[in-house]
Amino acid sequence: MMLARQGAPMDGAIKQLDHDAVRRLAYARDAAILAHSFQSPEIQDVADLVGDTLSLAERAQHLSNRTFAVCGAPFVAETVKVLNPTHTVLAVDGGVGCPLADGISAKRLHEWREHHRDAAIVCTANTSLSTKAASDYCVSATNAPAVLKSISPQRPILFLPDMFFGWWLKQSLGLENMHVWSEICPVHAAIRPAEMLRQHRALPGSELLIHPECDFVDFAWDDDGRLVLHDHVQVLSGDQMVCFAQASDAEVFIVAAEPGIVHRLRKEAPEKVIVAVDESAVCPSMERVTLGLLCDALHDRRPQLELEYSSAIAARWAIERARALATRSESDFDAVR
Ligand code: SF4
Repeated sequence: MMLARQGAPMDGAIKQLDHDAVRRLAYARDAAILAHSFQSPEIQDVADLVGDTLSLAERAQHLSNRTFAVCGAPFVAETVKVLNPTHTVLAVDGGVGCPLADGISAKRLHEWREHHRDAAIVCTANTSLSTKAASDYCVSATNAPAVLKSISPQRPILFLPDMFFGWWLKQSLGLENMHVWSEICPVHAAIRPAEMLRQHRALPGSELLIHPECDFVDFAWDDDGRLVLHDHVQVLSGDQMVCFAQASDAEVFIVAAEPGIVHRLRKEAPEKVIVAVDESAVCPSMERVTLGLLCDALHDRRPQLELEYSSAIAARWAIERARALATRSESDFDAVR
């Protein structure tokens, strides 16, 4: 089943028809639509859940639907399937991979580990199934600090895949035992730091929210490696940006991130003024998902995602291990050290 204008600009009335058609199909299929925070406004508006990769997969565990139509880069649907293995997962990903996730494979990770034999391997959700499976911990931006701090300072940590996020965690947590893989997200790395600061300074009282995959190294640290971010600059994931904007007394937020999160912030913090640093920083992988593609997936019940069993189990362990470690108290860690 095809909608008329895949990928083309839509006027309001036609867009509403498409929205309604997708919702009817989702209901008929007992499917929940899960959209990553970087999906287009049309996809976010038709979704049951919008969020970052790991939180989408975790929140889906509480839904009663038997089918999930997952809109995002390929690693998003994989992560949902890892945590919901008995569900039907429709991977609505437009067929375009993510250069950050594709920037390391399980093979290259094993080669890296050869140089750091006893290292703890910590990956984020922006990785392939096989990379997650080869890791000890798979973290979100929210639980990464707790997981990393719980690892013995005597044990090397290999963190992957994003270089800027890794640097940020290493410097802000003071982890001298941490080594960082050198891949970047080209979408976030292209958002210019000078433009972030210019817009922030032009609006006194605003908060600058920076996605951790952005290149903010030049103004985050001085030449001696000391953190010099001031109080009104925050380094946050998509989910964290929403929570921060909702709780903050500030009225204006300058957002350095893929513009999908700007739409989400405007919906979930409607009383705030949300300004995108760079509206053109659209992710080519995320933007390939259209209402037409989603409608086809729901209608045909394809493509259904199947994962290699042992990799899926190992990837789930990496996620569960990180969750368990992050929820233990600091005193628990002290007791077992
Ligand atoms: Fe990959 Fe960056 Fe796009 Fe996320 S925004 S899917 S990390 S290219």
